[in-house]
Amino acid sequence: MKQPEGPNSLVPFNRPSLIGKEFAYMAEALEEMHISGDGEFSKRCHARLEQVLSVPRALLTTSCTHALEMIALLLNVQPGCEVIVPSFAFASIANAFALRGAKIVFADVRPDTMNIDESKLPGLITGRTRAVAVVHYAGVGCEMDPIVSICQDHGIVLVEDNAHGLFGKYRGQLLGTFGLMSALSFHETKNLIAGEGGAILLNDPALIERAEIIREKGTNRARFHRGEIDKYTWVDLGSSYLPSDLLAAFLFAQLECWQRIQSLREAVWRRYHWALQDWAAQNGVTRPVVPEHCQQAYHMYYLVMPSRQARDGLIEFLKARGIHAAFHYQPLHLSRMGHQYGGRAGDCPVSEDVSERLVRLPFFNSLSPHEQSRVTNSVCAFNCPPRDHLAPSPACGDKLSRHAPLRQP
Ligand SMILES: *Cc1c(COP(=O)(O)O)cnc(C)c1O
Repeated sequence: MKQPEGPNSLVPFNRPSLIGKEFAYMAEALEEMHISGDGEFSKRCHARLEQVLSVPRALLTTSCTHALEMIALLLNVQPGCEVIVPSFAFASIANAFALRGAKIVFADVRPDTMNIDESKLPGLITGRTRAVAVVHYAGVGCEMDPIVSICQDHGIVLVEDNAHGLFGKYRGQLLGTFGLMSALSFHETKNLIAGEGGAILLNDPALIERAEIIREKGTNRARFHRGEIDKYTWVDLGSSYLPSDLLAAFLFAQLECWQRIQSLREAVWRRYHWALQDWAAQNGVTRPVVPEHCQQAYHMYYLVMPSRQARDGLIEFLKARGIHAAFHYQPLHLSRMGHQYGGRAGDCPVSEDVSERLVRLPFFNSLSPHEQSRVTNSVCAFNCPPRDHLAPSPACGDKLSRHAPLRQP
């Protein structure tokens, strides 16, 4: 295997790592020679997800993007429908519904959590609104109580893009279990990985049969494999959304170790939060806000800098020190596609502002304390322009060696 790090090697933004029996399970899938979809490992992944998340049905997909496309098909989204999505989000959440001909309506996000601003929803809902799709940004839950009740009051379907929030909770309830359906990602940048991959969670058993059909090219092949019918045929719209069992084998090894993965990530998150506290306060930088009723999923660590200049400056400053930090979403409503749905500058001021000032730090399971202190020492050596009245920031690397307090920040 590749040597993960040297004392002065680059600190990448992401470095996927093995956690358990990935090789062994992939070898097992090869020995069984079941490497197409829905083999033994896919079944084990489905069962494990259903058990850990207490959902009626989980089905692996080739990506979170494809899980969102399945959701759009299951909702019969079509021209004339409107779907509300946060502007500060990944393109797939809009694209999946746009592919079905829906009009995409962009909602702004809250300035504290970067999650969809629930207070904006009532003003965006029309008689044509079919669904609201939310993202739990960085794995911190959206304000689900008001969002669920707004959707119920208006007879609108709630969907969760839970690519960041797997195992996170809002008021004790797992993210991904609030909506009628939700989508997970196992892309190599996410908490649990399979290289490329995802899952759809069905929170209503009535959706299961049609979801199986849509996932199997619009055929009732799943029923055929269970021996429920003697031949299978084309019965609905669909596509090919099931991953190879080789990838399911990889994923199952990760799923078996999900608690270890989460605790590694929690430790990384807490070290950042602790080590950057004073520097952030002195430089007008905001650290992530995790409301008390949210148990976060430790998906990423980000900073909101005082200006775009400071954000771009920090990324350059870190790059010169061999550390890869990254900006995040460009507001969807200002994208070329967003303009086609009527998106204009000023529509979602928080998304526009945050996307210019937010920076994500290297964050992955195998980020070592040594690598992480290189990151935090470098960040702390950066003085935000143009706040020249500030005292030089103190070295804060020594804080890392102390034990980070284990209370919820
Ligand atoms: C990563 C991500 C996606 C896309 O996931 P894929 O599995 O790569 O399709 C969608 N939404 C959000 C919020 C993501 O972070």
